[in-house]
Amino acid sequence: MAQDCLFCKIIAGEIPATVVYEDDDVVAFKDISPQAPVHVLIVPRAHIERLSDATEADASLLGKIVLAGNRVARLSGVAKSGYRLIANTGPDGGQEVFHVHFHVLGGKRLGRMVS
Ligand code: AMP
Ligand code: ZN
Repeated sequence: MAQDCLFCKIIAGEIPATVVYEDDDVVAFKDISPQAPVHVLIVPRAHIERLSDATEADASLLGKIVLAGNRVARLSGVAKSGYRLIANTGPDGGQEVFHVHFHVLGGKRLGRMVS
């Protein structure tokens, strides 16, 4: 656990969150400031600051996060209607919390960000 990391503290249960799914590798909890009817964050239990720090050793973990996104979407009722799985990375990517996390957004038609 990294000192002063908000998401490490949530994983450790030191800061409350609404956990919707967890397993040995990841924890998924509701975003405190939802940008869509479904807005869940998926974080690895391991503290990795940003996606650009991930290495080959993290390949399996990153795959598990994508599959956890799938599971969260099913649990949240948006697997069929669709959802967006995104990771803001670094300052220009809009990352504010420096513990890797993927946003699961759904429950409404999201505007296009990339075309
Ligand atoms: P990012 O900008 O990609 O780093 O996203 C950080 C996200 O963490 C934002 O969507 C915040 O609303 C969310 N967030 C910040 N603090 C908390 C918290 N205590 N519990 C749940 N989500 C949080
Ligand atoms: Zn952390």
